[in-house]
Amino acid sequence: MLKLYNTRTRKVEKFRPLENNLVRMYSCGPTVYDYVHIGNLRAFVFEDILYRALKFNGHKVKYIMNITDVGHLTDDADQGEDKMEKGARREGKTAEEIAKFYTKAFKKDIQGLNILEPNQWAVATDHIQEQIDMVQKLIDNGYTYETSDGIYFDTTKLDDYGKLAQLDKQDLQAGARVDMKEKKNPHDFALWKFSNEDEQRQMEWQAFGRTGFPGWHIECSAMASEYLGEQFDIHCGGIDHIPVHHTNEIAQAEAAYDKKPWVNFWMHCEFLLMKDEKMSKSKGNFVTLKDIKQEGISPLAFRYFLLQSHYRKELNFSWKALKAAQKGLKKLRRKVNKIKNKNTDTDPKVEREFKDAINHDLNTSEALSVVWNAVKKEKVSMDSIIKMDKVLGLDLHKIKEEKIDIPNDVQELLDMRAEARENENWEKSDKIRAKIKEKGYKVKDTDNGQKIVEG
Ligand code: AMP
Ligand code: ZN
Repeated sequence: MLKLYNTRTRKVEKFRPLENNLVRMYSCGPTVYDYVHIGNLRAFVFEDILYRALKFNGHKVKYIMNITDVGHLTDDADQGEDKMEKGARREGKTAEEIAKFYTKAFKKDIQGLNILEPNQWAVATDHIQEQIDMVQKLIDNGYTYETSDGIYFDTTKLDDYGKLAQLDKQDLQAGARVDMKEKKNPHDFALWKFSNEDEQRQMEWQAFGRTGFPGWHIECSAMASEYLGEQFDIHCGGIDHIPVHHTNEIAQAEAAYDKKPWVNFWMHCEFLLMKDEKMSKSKGNFVTLKDIKQEGISPLAFRYFLLQSHYRKELNFSWKALKAAQKGLKKLRRKVNKIKNKNTDTDPKVEREFKDAINHDLNTSEALSVVWNAVKKEKVSMDSIIKMDKVLGLDLHKIKEEKIDIPNDVQELLDMRAEARENENWEKSDKIRAKIKEKGYKVKDTDNGQKIVEG
């Protein structure tokens, strides 16, 4: 039985879909104003593992991910610039061009990481009317007030505002000294912003008698409910979304539909860190998938690096650890290749232990060690590997005979050793083998001559 950690209850719980045959799941996708970094990608890999694990357990899944292409301001407190407009200015392009370009780049990144696409991409600017309708509903239900710069959600109108983040009264009053402008309470947030007359925006719409644009949170509540209904099973993202974005999504949806809880399971991924600090665009301490590829490391080695640790633990990125992961993945593939050639049988314990690991709140590191042990002992068939890789997504089964680039000096030693062996000079052959080992390679003598592997 699949068990998942639910941020809503702070417990690992048995997962059952609200409707018997269908799991309805929503993930907060990227804001497409720039390339995503590998911290963002950690969240998307976690969501992908979840999606795959649900399917592995026989569930049918309706999975929606949004693309934010309007309304995400540089400041969580509803001030600052729209990230899309800022991106457009930076590159001298239109906001639409920026959105198209970075959406494409994002899709390429996730493809490289074997992240499965959702059933439906929900693009914020394609759903402006749904967002306007939802704001109107909140106005009608009496949850809003208007200031000179927008329509705001009055968080004091809900008894349980902040429950996801377990914000208490003190937390809710904190920030009172922060400049609230015309907001009534520190945590109130914009549902709809009016365009500033001094600023020429590219993306704005007529609604509520003025020109304006949606607040960031409304798109997710409106689109999730549009595709998944007024209550659904799972909503996920990174942990930074708990106190503001997801808290506000819940407030909007529960105030609009009066159904609680809006979402049954909330799931969040811990941060990818760089030298013990959250990797983020604003701090500039980030790495992109392109950087990784430029180092000659495959995106799937990064996926393997992530799967070695649990999604609810902080994880420090380092090039050294990533290179070790690359080595590990290569080695695992080589072992799998051996099995492919041998037609081994599966010990039934293997798949059971693998499933137990995955079903225990997506314990991918444990699942990987089950696979490792099984391939080491050659107690697993290719069919089982393929089945387990449907969750891991590491392309373990797509093995070609791995070609490694042999440096010139190692190739020279190999040639010398081949000659020594032809002359049956075993002593010289062994000495050369030792030299090759010092350079980080192992030589094996096969029927087809010398074979070389790393390590
Ligand atoms: P954003 O485009 O900022 O909304 O981020 C997209 C996703 O990446 C969200 O789910 C964030 O919570 C997540 N995220 C951002 N930074 C990190 C990080 N350093 N580690 C893990 N997830 C992150
Ligand atoms: Zn969202």
